[in-house]
Amino acid sequence: MAQRGRSVQTQLAEIASRLDDLEKRLAGGIAGDEAYDTHVGADQTAPRYCCVPAEPPREFAAGISDERARAILSMGNKWVNGTPLRYYFYRSGRYGGNEAQSAVARRAFDVWKNVGIGLTFTEVATPGNAEIRIGFDHSDGSWSRIGTGVLNAGPGERTMNFGWNLDVPGPNGLDTAIHEIGHSLGFHHEHQNPNAGIVWNTQAVYDHFATTQSPPWDRGTTDFNILRKINPQSVSGSSWDPNSIMHYAFEAGLIQLPSQYQNGLRPAGGLSAGDKEVVRRFYPADGGVVSGPQLRAGESQFVNIGPGEQKDFAFLPTESRRFRFQTFGEFDTVMVLFEETGSQMTYISGDDDSGFDRNASFVVRLQEGRRYRLKIRLYYSTAAGHQSVMVW
Ligand SMILES: [Zn+2]
Repeated sequence: MAQRGRSVQTQLAEIASRLDDLEKRLAGGIAGDEAYDTHVGADQTAPRYCCVPAEPPREFAAGISDERARAILSMGNKWVNGTPLRYYFYRSGRYGGNEAQSAVARRAFDVWKNVGIGLTFTEVATPGNAEIRIGFDHSDGSWSRIGTGVLNAGPGERTMNFGWNLDVPGPNGLDTAIHEIGHSLGFHHEHQNPNAGIVWNTQAVYDHFATTQSPPWDRGTTDFNILRKINPQSVSGSSWDPNSIMHYAFEAGLIQLPSQYQNGLRPAGGLSAGDKEVVRRFYPADGGVVSGPQLRAGESQFVNIGPGEQKDFAFLPTESRRFRFQTFGEFDTVMVLFEETGSQMTYISGDDDSGFDRNASFVVRLQEGRRYRLKIRLYYSTAAGHQSVMVW
């Protein structure tokens, strides 16, 4: 009964909130949803900025060579290619968004998918089934966790938030959604690319973001999202791409050098040619994956791939029991197992041994008659051709 009572209360609260919103829209006389956003300052068209949560840089144990660290960081937080990513939109409560907002985010997933990549995106109805959980809390800015970092979020936590209405023209609309999804694919801010060589008017930048954003940015937030240079080893593209969707627009007076941007920098909008090249390089459409032989219990198979490459193996168990999957040899890999049902793939288990002196390994219970796919992506190897994988 308590459950039922709460549900009626929630419904009443939602109705009251909708009436309140309707009143605001009528009073404001503004078409669309802009009047909803009570957290925006007076200037509705001013650029709003993504603000990713600060995370400490990855530390490596002593004895890890620079070359090995570089190889790991360059792939860091990217998904194995072919990963079916599932996303969920909060619909009620503090994080809930309306259909118009979700529709823009869906279009943004399509923009990435239409480049022709090996990842798939599927909307699901429960947060527990989604890797990417998207909220619409307007008091919390727009942000996303980076790539596989979403897996570190607690089960009910958001991995992405939109802090303003997306159904507006310009960079605060669809491009914001494309940008945040770019983070979920493992991409960092392009204006923090050390190859950009941007020299900032530091005080002007602090002042700008402390006064134009809602909630205002403190110095730490501005440092993390703007002024900090990303580790050169983590940069996805080799050169600076000021038109990247992962690049912010900047008003005049914030950039000192390169001098042509002293009067401001505004990316062209949408995915740049560079964005498409980079996302295809990390997630080539299926042709980019080396197809390995079928795994058989107790028989090892060579892996034989280069840094950044991926090899897939099929496994069809002939009995239902627990199986151990493990790599052998000196290399850093991420190894992930999926179950294949028709064209659907479901994550079963995975392990990432990059930067550690051990091999990727996991034990799972599998069912006879079902079909599984093991994906191995290589970060780094010390000696080519001496690595293998086995299931037993
Ligand atoms: Zn961002």
